[in-house]
Amino acid sequence: MTDATVLSSRSEALARRARGSLPGGNTRTTVYRDPYPLYAARGEGCRVWDVDGVARIDCNNNYTSLIHGHAHPALVDAACRQIALGTAFGMPTESEIDLAELLCARVASVERVRFVNSGTEAVMMALKAARAFTGRPKIAKCEGAYHGTYDYAEVSLDTGPADWQVQGPPASVAYAHGTPQGVLDDVVVIPFNDIDGAVSLIRAHGPALAGVLVDPMPNRAGLVPADPAYLQALHAVCREVGALLIFDEVISFRLGHAGAQGLWGVEADLTTFGKIMGGGFPVGALGGRVDVMAVFDPTSGKPAVPGGGTFSANPVTMRAGLAAMDLLDEAAFVRLGHMGDHLRHGIERLLHDHGIRGCATGRGSLLQVHLSDRPLRDYRSARPEAAEARRLVAFVQALLDGGVIISTNGLMALSTVMTGDDLEAVLAAIAAALSAIG
Ligand code: PMP
Repeated sequence: MTDATVLSSRSEALARRARGSLPGGNTRTTVYRDPYPLYAARGEGCRVWDVDGVARIDCNNNYTSLIHGHAHPALVDAACRQIALGTAFGMPTESEIDLAELLCARVASVERVRFVNSGTEAVMMALKAARAFTGRPKIAKCEGAYHGTYDYAEVSLDTGPADWQVQGPPASVAYAHGTPQGVLDDVVVIPFNDIDGAVSLIRAHGPALAGVLVDPMPNRAGLVPADPAYLQALHAVCREVGALLIFDEVISFRLGHAGAQGLWGVEADLTTFGKIMGGGFPVGALGGRVDVMAVFDPTSGKPAVPGGGTFSANPVTMRAGLAAMDLLDEAAFVRLGHMGDHLRHGIERLLHDHGIRGCATGRGSLLQVHLSDRPLRDYRSARPEAAEARRLVAFVQALLDGGVIISTNGLMALSTVMTGDDLEAVLAAIAAALSAIG
């Protein structure tokens, strides 16, 4: 195409321009779409307008991070007040104490907090803390679970049937090309929701194991909640072998006032946070036991785990995060839970009415549509087969055409600003999308 070609949309024109300065026009793998993504112009409430002026209901909410939708007045106000006072300082601010106190008050296992800029960093710092505290090199993580892009955390993120043919425990498989063998050797991959399988692996590697990293409802492993007994078993075996139990609540903090661990009643030694906690701004945090978190304490000289971060605990993020958390009282979680249940039931009814095999997993404000009727328990059972994956792509595209944005893997995240009418509009679009994919 020449420059004179009339492009069908402004998004297409922007995508073409982007290829001149960004690899493949992209700076965030998750938002790439073939042949090009829609570009956002603005958001308000639960709607996003693309650069061609088309409005859609947003059930992606920046990959679950916006629990109050877009441009919520209380969050805009909190951020703007701080921006007017200065956006970043080479000094701490009171805002970081306020947000840390809020996390300590809400989550029983959190006695001290450290802020960073992303969930990826939070997981990285948690794993470094576990290694420093225990003096051990290895970490265990669940097959298929996403924890950001730290080398160790992304091992065996997307294994497939070819990797599963090998008898025995899940293999440590590189996700990014070039991952050093040493990284793979130091990651023990455990099966999700399989007590015997996980416990025996943790025992076998026990003396070398610093920590066990687990997301209580991993979205890349089907958004199937962990059995409480599985988390209790991990807690017990961690105590037995002297490893730390690390909950990744970067997404699952959405589930309740005290996160997933508040609902499941199992306490972690360390917990990572991110997403909703920043009120729409970049954020990450880790919190946990006072003795473990002491690895970051600089008051007696160089800490066991030093860490700077030019924008860590940024006051704009902290103030917007506080405003977001203040709006999330117990009643807000109850309402989000009812909205989620309504959608999950509605989707399963529509799937049934259309004669399409499928289900909706998840809990609270998080749900995931699967176009398979296998019992879903873990990454392997939830991973779509090739035909299911193709149908999911068509379903997500049909929904987009019908005015609703969800993630490409079928993940949906609701926001407090959605009304009953919005939910009905989402269900109507899902009905139309199911008719379209037949
Ligand atoms: N942990 C989990 C469970 C996540 O879902 C994500 C991001 N989707 C991360 C960590 C990484 O967070 P970030 O994208 O902020 O680096």
